[in-house]
Amino acid sequence: MRKVNIIGGGLAGTALAYMLKSRGAVPIIYEASPDVASGASGNDIGIYNPRFSAQLDAEAKFYSDAFFKACSVFEEFGDDVEFNPCGSLSLLNNERKDVRYRKTVDSWGWSKDDMRIVGAREASDMAGIEIPHDALYLPKSGSVSPKKLCQLYSKDIEVNLNHKIKDFSELEGDVTIIACGIGALKFEASENLPLKSVRGQVSFVDQNKLSKNLKLVLNYGGYMAPAKDGVHVVGSTFQPWLSHDDILPEDNLINLDKLFEAIPSIEGDYNVVDSRAAVRTASKNHFPIVGQLGQGLYISVAHGSHGILSSIMAASILADMIVDSDYSAPYELLTALSPNRFSR
Ligand SMILES: Cc1cc2nc3c(=O)[nH]c(=O)nc-3n(C[C@H](O)[C@H](O)[C@H](O)COP(=O)(O)OP(=O)(O)OC[C@H]3O[C@@H](n4cnc5c(N)ncnc54)[C@H](O)[C@@H]3O)c2cc1C
Repeated sequence: MRKVNIIGGGLAGTALAYMLKSRGAVPIIYEASPDVASGASGNDIGIYNPRFSAQLDAEAKFYSDAFFKACSVFEEFGDDVEFNPCGSLSLLNNERKDVRYRKTVDSWGWSKDDMRIVGAREASDMAGIEIPHDALYLPKSGSVSPKKLCQLYSKDIEVNLNHKIKDFSELEGDVTIIACGIGALKFEASENLPLKSVRGQVSFVDQNKLSKNLKLVLNYGGYMAPAKDGVHVVGSTFQPWLSHDDILPEDNLINLDKLFEAIPSIEGDYNVVDSRAAVRTASKNHFPIVGQLGQGLYISVAHGSHGILSSIMAASILADMIVDSDYSAPYELLTALSPNRFSR
């Protein structure tokens, strides 16, 4: 059986381990921190939603396929990953989104049962609160725990914690995958990739009488999930100019202001009970970097703000490459994901 070293124990690395194991390989994870899901993947709740685009190009197809693949995996994991397919409304709260989301519905070809535009009235009835915009409705979307996903993906897999890889010569075996986010810049093979850090912070707020009726996930540039045990998650800030994970009190105000601006009916007093900040990794064109870097060397990074979906799709594609499966992703997709695309 083929041994595969995976550097990084976030969503990218643990999803790879899960997919490789299911194809008969023996993955070994190396994680610098004392636990898996210590970086961007450590949030208790995240939203799984594709990145919508006007055309069904290779990138859109990636997120579209990722959505259905992820739904079936999450359904199998169920409550163990706090899977809550409550549905989501992505608000058409500016002209750009109004045009793009309507084109998404036309061009992606999803069934009406999986994706449709709803008017503001219907959106309000679905949400349980007053929504002032039309919205793109995905009944199968919702929330899941990224942290618990990492734990379940890596269950029964050898995980070496507190083990920061500095040089590949430390590793045995002939296959290694770099799945350590911005840490990829520390390796000679990937030091020139156009990766950047984008700090973000999520806020956990007590439900109040305005928000307690919320029934599904709202996306409006930020996001709010229905309360679980009386607490909503409201996300998240985007700061490409910062690369630390300290909590910033002003970020909680930014998250709430963004929510109130998009949905004034929910404006009120919210008690912030917790916050979590971390650093996302993004590429120059905001599409993940997934593929082969050299002989026996692969990479899965730059999962940006849609890592819950993109990590599992990337894992499936790389696992097929590594175990020489008969299936291979379409050429246009492999080219769009390739780490070599920036040097052309
Ligand atoms: C505030 C915030 C909110 C978000 N909300 C959502 C959301 O709602 N939905 C969604 O889909 N996505 C969301 N994301 C994005 C998502 O969390 C990321 O895309 C995803 O977690 C990236 O996973 P990763 O494994 O690439 O990176 P990480 O989770 O950062 O994992 C990389 C790991 O590699 C380890 N590492 C680094 N260098 C080394 C080394 N040399 N040796 C060993 N280990 C190393 C690190 O310790 C780290 O644990 C959010 C991100 C943030 C920050």
